[in-house]
Amino acid sequence: MTDDPRRRTPRTDAVLADPAVAAAAARLGRGRVKGVVVAVLDECRTGVVAPQDAVAVVLDRLPEAATTLRRVVNATGVVVHTNLGRAPLSAAAVEAVARAAGATDVEMDLASGRRGPRGTGALAALAAAVPDAGDVHVVNNGAAALALVACALGRTEMDGTAREAVIARGELVEIGDGFRIPELLESLGVRLREVGTTNRVRLADYEAAVGPDTAFVLKVHPSNFRVEGFTSAVSVTELASLGVPLVVDIGSGLLAPHPRLPDEPDAATVLRAGADLVTASGDKLLGGPQCGLLLGEAGLVQRLRHHPFARALRVDKLTLAALEATLTGPVPPVPAALAARPEELLARATRLARQVGGLASAVPSRGRVGGGGAPGVLLPSAALALPAALAAPLRLGDPAVVGHVHDGRLHLDLLTVPEELDEVLVEAVRRVAP
Ligand SMILES: *Cc1c(COP(=O)(O)O)cnc(C)c1O
Repeated sequence: MTDDPRRRTPRTDAVLADPAVAAAAARLGRGRVKGVVVAVLDECRTGVVAPQDAVAVVLDRLPEAATTLRRVVNATGVVVHTNLGRAPLSAAAVEAVARAAGATDVEMDLASGRRGPRGTGALAALAAAVPDAGDVHVVNNGAAALALVACALGRTEMDGTAREAVIARGELVEIGDGFRIPELLESLGVRLREVGTTNRVRLADYEAAVGPDTAFVLKVHPSNFRVEGFTSAVSVTELASLGVPLVVDIGSGLLAPHPRLPDEPDAATVLRAGADLVTASGDKLLGGPQCGLLLGEAGLVQRLRHHPFARALRVDKLTLAALEATLTGPVPPVPAALAARPEELLARATRLARQVGGLASAVPSRGRVGGGGAPGVLLPSAALALPAALAAPLRLGDPAVVGHVHDGRLHLDLLTVPEELDEVLVEAVRRVAP
């Protein structure tokens, strides 16, 4: 039987020695490539794959990079999409990350050859972006910023007894995926002193609660929900009059007011209104890498920076590089999306619909800020509308394209698709269109 596939199946070593396969092994790691080769040769033996196609099938099955994370075109219209990694980095930030990835002077003064302070470029850029802050510090994420505040201020320096954080009941917030700010604070030994009711709190409630055990007053921005109707909250200016440290978690990381997001707090305004410390995320509306920002009164920030727990929350060189480029480089995708003009998006959608052909149409749509804040704000946008049946094949393509189904049609919302990806989008649709 000259046709027995088992006899004609090449040996593993022979396939691994093929120049294209060897090049892939050098790029992706020999273990990963060998795993694919072994699987394909098994299929040769059972007759699923023709032996002469083995190398081609192996090359086809190899991933493009040594990560299982896939590239995704975010066509959901949700600007800060938590499940898609929040803010996409700017090209400048990506380049900065690549530059910092090798050995870099993150903690060395090259002029003297001695050890230098860590991440000075990124910290200086952040300080320059928020001149109202006496000092700034960066940690791993927004939760880490709050955790550092809790550790450094939430206990007496003498014997570590728990002190109180005064917080309004309406601000005992769950951010997402079960992460609750009150539980984070309590897990670090801070006692919560809740004031007011779910919908209303007054300055007098805070005044009655503040006392010798108060470590700080915490104001948390309800970044993912809105309470409407019979409500009242206490302004930062009023809280600043209480005479204890005032920490404001603004969440989204806006550094200055944004005209389209009038209800979203920003660091500069909150500091000017009298907050002693502001905490925020770096990968929401700022549009940078995952990190947590701490801005405020110099003495407090220094106390946080020198607390032993700060080391456990330290950001790496890649984050520092991306943050600096986000702050000083060209406008990153998130702020660009927030500034997008709907008529331009519709013109783009019309052009793309023409390129795709009959099954596509251009429609006006509404985007959202998403996990980054501004709940309830609708951002005028435009989308490429397609048959809903294309949703799954587009999600499984490379790059994956994720849209959302609306009124029985798949909408690929252009608010969140940078214009330079238009061709990629058209090609992805053409590949799966009937
Ligand atoms: C997002 C958010 C956090 C948590 O920040 P992470 O960067 O996700 O850790 C905390 N507080 C508020 C108000 C937020 O919106």
